[in-house]
Amino acid sequence: MNVFVVNCGSSSLKYQLIDAQSEVVLAKGLCERIGIDGSRIVFKPACGKKSGEKITIEAPMPDHTNAIRMVLDCLVNEDYGVIRSLDEIGAIGHRVAHGGEKLASSVLLNDDVVKEIEECCELAPLHNPANLIGIRVCHELMPDVPMAAVFDTAFHQTMPRKAYLYGLPYRYYTDYKIRRYGFHGTSHRYVSQKAAQILGVPYESLKTIVCHLGNGASICAVENGRSVDTSMGFTPVAGLVMGTRCGDIDPAIVEYLTEKEHKDVHEINRILNKESGIYGLSGGLVDFRDIRKGCQEGDEKCLRAMDVFMYNIATRVGAYVAAMNGVDAIVFTAGIGENGDQMRKDICEQYWGYLGIKIDDEKNSLSGEDVVISTPDSKVKVLVIGTNEELMIARETMALVKE
Ligand code: ADP
Repeated sequence: MNVFVVNCGSSSLKYQLIDAQSEVVLAKGLCERIGIDGSRIVFKPACGKKSGEKITIEAPMPDHTNAIRMVLDCLVNEDYGVIRSLDEIGAIGHRVAHGGEKLASSVLLNDDVVKEIEECCELAPLHNPANLIGIRVCHELMPDVPMAAVFDTAFHQTMPRKAYLYGLPYRYYTDYKIRRYGFHGTSHRYVSQKAAQILGVPYESLKTIVCHLGNGASICAVENGRSVDTSMGFTPVAGLVMGTRCGDIDPAIVEYLTEKEHKDVHEINRILNKESGIYGLSGGLVDFRDIRKGCQEGDEKCLRAMDVFMYNIATRVGAYVAAMNGVDAIVFTAGIGENGDQMRKDICEQYWGYLGIKIDDEKNSLSGEDVVISTPDSKVKVLVIGTNEELMIARETMALVKE
């Protein structure tokens, strides 16, 4: 069965068509600048006459209905399409940012579920409304195709109370749902499952710590197949220092800054999300490749950003070793985790010696492969695994449709 995976943002849409049996990607791409001048669609077929090519079409896309129509047209295009008709799409899987406490696992979509997702909009005001647009448009264009929602938060709903409650008046949790939710759940689940598979150990008997290090970054402690703690919080701004997000800071800084900078709390919040983290520390760099290059050249701004980033990762992992009273495997994933070989080596050597970790330099320098980078005698295994949220969404969707 082919599953159409949709990740709908407010002005963009990422998609993949995946044969869920063979797990082969038939096509993928994105629509950019939806509703804005200069919109375009990128379509990359992975089979058919134009397999491996990148087709870019610049065309007006006033709204998401237009965008999804264009994607569907590409999929069945005579010249570069990958299926003959839309009947070959058996199911649609939607990435949804926030499922709150009620939507604690992937679910087939119906009116009640849509209502629940709507209720979670106040918890994820930038993402859930856009995800809902994708859901509505797909339903409008393909009313008979079953659709599922896969939530970024769902994997973390197994966290115990001691990990998700904040030290705030308890009624803020009961009245306003303020708690740690965590995000990147689909990635953390995919990667921790894959680690168990690579190590040949049952998923249900492994203590894994996943470091998802992309522009957004989070760490998750996975004990016996369940998330027991994670670094993002009520929102994705919490936890690690990230590309532009500040991560954990003293909450009193917000009021202090409003006074010092004569800015309101919304503006400070924007700065914490968009102008902080690596960007703020380095004085304007956000791409990890630039930071790495700067570090090699001895640039002080890059060195301090890198130092803080690595220390954040190392100490958070230490906390999760305590949370699980041990760890069997630590996994690096996402853009920086998968490509930052020097950073991986430095963290392991500078901070994790107490875990008995030893790195195999040759394995660590391989790129683009899922690989164990620790030596065979390393007490804790360290792995690099390419994340694949779309495949996880396709798997979950197919499992629900087959039930
Ligand atoms: P997101 O999905 O959160 O936008 P990604 O997982 O795509 O993030 O990761 C983006 C980060 O990965 C960027 O900081 C980028 O510099 C870094 N990155 C991507 N490719 C490489 C590479 N070859 N070497 C080093 N860093 C890389």
